[in-house]
Amino acid sequence: NKSVIFMKRPDDYPIVGEHFVLQHTDLVAELEEGDILTRNLYLSLDPYLRGRMDGIEGAYVPCFHIGNPINGYGMGEVIQSKNSKYPVGSLVFGVITWELFSLIPPSFNNLIILPNAIRESKVPLSWYLGALGMTGLTAYGSLKLFANLKPGETIFVSAAMGAVGHLVGQMAKRQGLRVVGSAGTDEKVKVLLEELNFDAAFNYKTGNILQSLQKACPEGIDIYYDNVGGEQLEAALEVLKQHGRVVVSGMIDDYNRVTPYHIKNLVLIFQKRIKIEGFVCLDFEKEIWPEFTADVTKWLLEGDIVCKEEVTEGLENAPSVFVNNLKGKNLGKGVIKIADL
Ligand code: NDP
Repeated sequence: NKSVIFMKRPDDYPIVGEHFVLQHTDLVAELEEGDILTRNLYLSLDPYLRGRMDGIEGAYVPCFHIGNPINGYGMGEVIQSKNSKYPVGSLVFGVITWELFSLIPPSFNNLIILPNAIRESKVPLSWYLGALGMTGLTAYGSLKLFANLKPGETIFVSAAMGAVGHLVGQMAKRQGLRVVGSAGTDEKVKVLLEELNFDAAFNYKTGNILQSLQKACPEGIDIYYDNVGGEQLEAALEVLKQHGRVVVSGMIDDYNRVTPYHIKNLVLIFQKRIKIEGFVCLDFEKEIWPEFTADVTKWLLEGDIVCKEEVTEGLENAPSVFVNNLKGKNLGKGVIKIADL
C-alpha cells in the first residue's frame, strides 16, 4: 500500500515532506468482522483538512494524529468485505484514508453506497467529489436552509471561483439573484464573468476590497456568502443593507494565519440588524442528500450550472496540490484521481 502520513502540526501553510509524507505501508493480511477494504479512486481536497492538522481536540471534526494517514472525503470500490452492509463491488463515497487502499473498521463506516447507475452515467465520476459530493451538498444545502434567497436580491460570494463558491454563485443566479463574486486572480474573475454568468466580480488582491465591493454593489448587498472571513467579511458588513444576512460557510483567511485578522466594524451587526448564521454540512447531509443529488444532477445535465474542476492524477500529488489550493491555485474543485473504476 502507499499512504500519505501526517507527520507534524504546521503553524501556517503545511510543507510537503515535513508535515505530511508519502510512505509505503503494509496491508493487513486479514479483515476483522465488520471491516471493509476499499480500492481508492478519488480524493476530495478540502480546506477543512487544514484545521484538522491543528490538533484541537473537541473541534467540530476530529483532528489528525501524528503518524496516521490523512483522511477525508473520497470515493472507492469495496474489494474485500466482512460487513454485509457493504458488499464487494460497491462504489462508496465518504471519509476514506489518503491511501491506495483503505481498511475501514465498523466504527468508521458511514459511507454512502453510490447507485450502480453512475458507472454508466453521463456525469464524470470526479463530479461526485465536487458538484455532486460534499462540496455541492454544502452549496445546495446552505442556500436552501439558511440563505432564504429571493429573486432580485444581490448576493456577494467570496472565494467565488473555489469549489463551493462557484456553485453557490450559479445556484443563486438560477434563482434570479444578482450575483457578485471575489477571487484572487484576474483569470478567475474572467471565468466568473464570462463562463459562469456572474453579474460582477473583482480581484480582491489587486485593489481595495471595500471600494471594489462598493463599486460592484452600488445599491448594497442583501446576502453575503462567506467562505473567507477577515477583511472580506469586514467589507461585506459595511456594504450589507439593513436586515442583511450573512451565511458563514468557512473562514479560509484564518486557517493558515498565526494571528487572525482583526475585524473592526462588528458594531454594524446590531446597528444594521444583520443576521449571521454559520453551519456545518454534516448537520444536514443525510436530510438533504436525496433531493440534492436529484436536483443538482438535473441542473448539471441540462447545463443550468457547470462543475469546474481540476483533476490531478496520482496519490503522491495529493499533499502538494492540497497546499497549492489553500494558496488559491485551483479554479473550481480540486480532486485527486488515484485509479480508474
Ligand atoms: P477551495 O479549496 O476550492 O477554494 C478555496 C479558495 O479560497 C482558494 O482557491 C483561494 O482562492 C481562496 N483563499 C485562500 N486563502 C484566502 C484568503 N486568505 N483570503 C481570501 N481567499 C482565500 O475551497 P472550498 O470552496 O471547498 O471551501 C471554501 C470555504 O468553504 C472554506 O472556508 C471551507 O472551509 C468552507 N467549507 C465549509 C463547509 C461547511 O460545512 N461549513 C463545507 C465545505 C467547505 P483565491 O484565488 O480566490 O484566493
